Amino acid sequence: MLCPCGSSLSFNACCQLYITQQKHPSTPEQLMRSRFSAYAMKNGQYIFDTYAAVPRLKQSVTEIQTWADECIWLALKIHETDNTTVEFSAYYVVDNTLCELREKSNFTLELGQWRYIDGNITVHNENGTIKRNDLCPCNSYPTAWSAKKGKKFKHCCAK
Ligand SMILES: [Zn+2]
Ligand SMILES: [Zn+2]
Repeated sequence: MLCPCGSSLSFNACCQLYITQQKHPSTPEQLMRSRFSAYAMKNGQYIFDTYAAVPRLKQSVTEIQTWADECIWLALKIHETDNTTVEFSAYYVVDNTLCELREKSNFTLELGQWRYIDGNITVHNENGTIKRNDLCPCNSYPTAWSAKKGKKFKHCCAK
């Protein structure tokens, strides 16, 4: 299985190593990618655990888990990254609506580990309705991880 983060590596050679704590992300981008992969794999606990200590106080694993479960996570695109920030777009379907969330996220090192602080959302678009018999929207994203070329939504990411 390809890694959801779009690295074109297999999941077990990429973000799974971080999500299972066998390795720690050494850059904000690696942490960002692993958090997206955790959403795609419906692992709310990892997303919670990788918040920085202060913003984590306002988070709930249950709420994160509900959001991860409600969405079909199609693709991640990294636009720009520097020492403490990552700008990305996440593409997903929720309630049959195709969405793009573009965010510039802030990260910090805590006890030697990268943690997510918060982000400024610059785009939050709804890009139309997806029906089960439509061509799967993942076909339009080069970094989509589950793309089955030319398949209908119901036979691809909606499965
Ligand atoms: Zn990955
Ligand atoms: Zn698909």
